[in-house]
Amino acid sequence: MREGQQVIIDNVRIFDGERLLGCGSVEFADGLITRVMADPASRASATSSTSTSASTEVIDGAGMTLLPGLIDAHTHVFGAESNLEMALAFGVTTELDMFMGPPDATRALCAAAGERADLADLRSAGLLASAPGGHPGVTMPDLPTVAGPEQADAFVAARQAEGAHFIKIMVEDGAHHGMSLPALDRATVTALAEAARRRGLLTVAHVAALWSARLALDSGVDMLTHLPLEATLDDAFVSRAAEERRAVIPTLVMLEMSTPKMARSAHTGRSLADDPQIAGHLPEHARTAIAEGHEGLCIEPASPGQHFAHALSSVLSLHRAGVPVLAGTDANYRPDRACPVVHGAGLHAELALLVAAGLTPAEALTAATSAPAAHFGLADRGVIAPGRRADLVLVQGDPTKDIRRTRSIEAIWRGGVRFDRAAYGKRAAAS
Ligand SMILES: [Zn+2]
Repeated sequence: MREGQQVIIDNVRIFDGERLLGCGSVEFADGLITRVMADPASRASATSSTSTSASTEVIDGAGMTLLPGLIDAHTHVFGAESNLEMALAFGVTTELDMFMGPPDATRALCAAAGERADLADLRSAGLLASAPGGHPGVTMPDLPTVAGPEQADAFVAARQAEGAHFIKIMVEDGAHHGMSLPALDRATVTALAEAARRRGLLTVAHVAALWSARLALDSGVDMLTHLPLEATLDDAFVSRAAEERRAVIPTLVMLEMSTPKMARSAHTGRSLADDPQIAGHLPEHARTAIAEGHEGLCIEPASPGQHFAHALSSVLSLHRAGVPVLAGTDANYRPDRACPVVHGAGLHAELALLVAAGLTPAEALTAATSAPAAHFGLADRGVIAPGRRADLVLVQGDPTKDIRRTRSIEAIWRGGVRFDRAAYGKRAAAS
């Protein structure tokens, strides 16, 4: 979009991040939404006051739905711009990275993503907190660790100085990799959560088992990510999480791709890779990774009692109790390390899985737009309203009725600039 150019999307169904507003028009200029008219009565009068000129582009959105740009609340970018480009090609305008280093490169990539219209915008936890000799530091000797509560404040201060946007805490004993490793204890996680709160940073805890989920809840972290596969979260856990205003990022797509039945899933694996609306914009190496890969949040073959269905029912219990559920994929694909949860495309699988768990399609869309924006303090996005960033996705059909319509992408704008999706698709096909 040229400086000063105005875009009007007319006759379009508008999902504003929380609800369907009905049919109307949305205008934006200079990167920001300037006007939203959803009520047909007010629209008639407003139309006359809208000045259209040669610099105004009018798009007929008949039969289509306009959504806020999607937010993936759990990814790993690994410093690869190509991941942020792939994310944007699927309508993900913001990624929240949960572990990346080294700090200088992370800060530089966040700065570049803030400026460039051809990449998803990025926030990152930077280096995560884990126990000495624990996961994942056991294979990364340079990773700073936290030996006890007395080291918590210095750890958080160092991450803040490096530019971390939030603090990721690994509560993990390596069991999902078939190992038995030291993990952060409750006193240390509590001290990390308190240090972060004092310094104005949110905390997100990796929990993939019942013991770690309980430890994280007891320690006062703001958000939990992943879910246990060995059992459904019980009522006492769920109601306490609701009372204490925690949020959960389940990463269902990662959990399902970690379980042996993944190959027969209707949502991930081969069925996702073979969906023409997905495959048409995926580089071949990413398509192969989705179709043939297996992920690592559960050892294969899965331990007895580990079932993906437990995670699905936990999501429904949490949602019914009023615990905000945020869409996140744990996408950790990179060109040199093919993993089956890829940036962008993975979020469309996550949306379908949230609906499979029992959310309505509109609730799933909220989980990928206004809810993560609200919980991560991104007040400028996630909602279609005047003054918000023009991060927008235009799709064919009505994804509030059929969540798979989020894949039928017609156009993507990031900060008001249209992403050249056709060119990306051509480059992907040639790769
Ligand atoms: Zn992760």
